[in-house]
Amino acid sequence: MDCIFCKIVEGSIPSKKVFENDHVLAFHDISPAAPVHILIIPKKHIATMNDVEPDDFGLIGEVHRAAQQIAREQGVAESGYRLINNCNRNGGQVVYHIHYHLLAGEQLGPLNAK
Ligand code: AMP
Ligand code: ZN
Repeated sequence: MDCIFCKIVEGSIPSKKVFENDHVLAFHDISPAAPVHILIIPKKHIATMNDVEPDDFGLIGEVHRAAQQIAREQGVAESGYRLINNCNRNGGQVVYHIHYHLLAGEQLGPLNAK
């Protein structure tokens, strides 16, 4: 499958990993939008939020569990962070393997700044 994040999961494309278990992988975004910008993905290929099926909700919970741990380990849990999923064109999704952006390390702008 021609999916860049599946290739990162397989290891055929390198990444700077910050977290990995059997189901979830997290790595630094190649083009950071904040001092801390980490992408958290399920290893399973799910294209978008719209494609999450009932059996996947436990897996999405695992992604959230990883986000919580990563925020602690990055030292930003208390100062705060933003966890973002972009879905489809208007959401700004570019990579069609579901992922959450964990952004932190500075005061982030208001959501209505777009
Ligand atoms: P989105 O617009 O939500 O689909 O976000 C895709 C993100 O993936 C962007 O922030 C890109 O900078 C990031 N990205 C693309 N290719 C790579 C890569 N090889 N390693 C790390 N991050 C990547
Ligand atoms: Zn994929």
